[in-house]
Amino acid sequence: MAKDYYDILGVSRSATQEEIKKAFRKLAHEHHPDKASGNEAKFKEINEAYQVLNNPDKRKQYDQFGQTFNSAGGQSYGGGFNWQDFARQAGGTGGFNTGGFSFNGEEFDLGDIFGEFFGGRGGQGRRGGSSRARGSDLEYTMEISLKESAFGAEKVISVEKQTTCENCQGKGYDDTAKLETCKTCGGKGRVMKQQRTIFGVYQSEQLCPECEGGGKKPDRPCKACGGDGRVIKEKQLKIKIPAGIDNGQSIKLTGEGEAGEKGSPAGDLYITFRVQPAKGFKREGDDILTIKEINIAQASLGDKVEVETLDGWVSLKIPAGTQSGKVFKLSDKGVQRLHGRGRGDQLVEIIVKTPEGLSRKAKELMEELREEID
Ligand SMILES: [Zn+2]
Ligand SMILES: [Zn+2]
Repeated sequence: MAKDYYDILGVSRSATQEEIKKAFRKLAHEHHPDKASGNEAKFKEINEAYQVLNNPDKRKQYDQFGQTFNSAGGQSYGGGFNWQDFARQAGGTGGFNTGGFSFNGEEFDLGDIFGEFFGGRGGQGRRGGSSRARGSDLEYTMEISLKESAFGAEKVISVEKQTTCENCQGKGYDDTAKLETCKTCGGKGRVMKQQRTIFGVYQSEQLCPECEGGGKKPDRPCKACGGDGRVIKEKQLKIKIPAGIDNGQSIKLTGEGEAGEKGSPAGDLYITFRVQPAKGFKREGDDILTIKEINIAQASLGDKVEVETLDGWVSLKIPAGTQSGKVFKLSDKGVQRLHGRGRGDQLVEIIVKTPEGLSRKAKELMEELREEID
């Protein structure tokens, strides 16, 4: 039974080119083999229908002669089209190769179609010579307290990310699959690629995109991941907050980004710390600045006062005759040095508060005091 291209795309025979394009995009998205719900056979069928209906000449021919037009042309894909190739190009270089490819001897461009599938996942470099896409890097912002930043801590976060498929260990197929000789290259692992340029057609040998040079292909992809070798999963990660880390600084967890395609290297996870301000404490480098208010009697006669530090309350001796603005140093009460030993200091600035709203008695005493120290 002949396939009806209009039925495949779900459009009427009088559909406009725009409607055909729209229908194709929607269906291609739905059945794209890169997705868990994808279906490669269906995707190819949709693609085939679109290649004909999107071309006004071919569409006219098809309307007139139907399916026979296509079968007369032999293999509908000419062995050239492979969606994986495009996925890799897009993922691997961060930009879609708009060079086009050959379909039954005619050039056309898939850039606009595939650009949107892979648009958001570009920018990944290649590693280790593999043509497969490395996993994406991930970024995470973590709120921590001043104390956690000063002394370090451990926290557990959960990150939803592409992780290596457990069913196939990232291979893309499991034990139930049989390895067959690759049809695209006949087991040679290499294919001849024809390219049309303004200078004519030339051929070059390249690694088979279907089996990536192995010459063998599993007869079915892993059910759990659809052949990609990875699945989206929530993963718990124990994060060691380094002692001394400051607001806005980041750490890198190598390999904790998203898993790569079919077992290729994972991306990295970057964690940026946001240190919540703590009331009364100001960090400056590895030092902590605080303010302590005392009254004029304490300032004049001297006293012992309690000062809050990152470690709790400590006693500070105020010598007699302390001026407002005087700074006392509490050694080693600051923040742990990030890349070194020891800690910074706490600097306590003294503010002498002038009393307001004096009682009658206080006023009298103050008058007396004025006479005395004048
Ligand atoms: Zn092959
Ligand atoms: Zn799998």
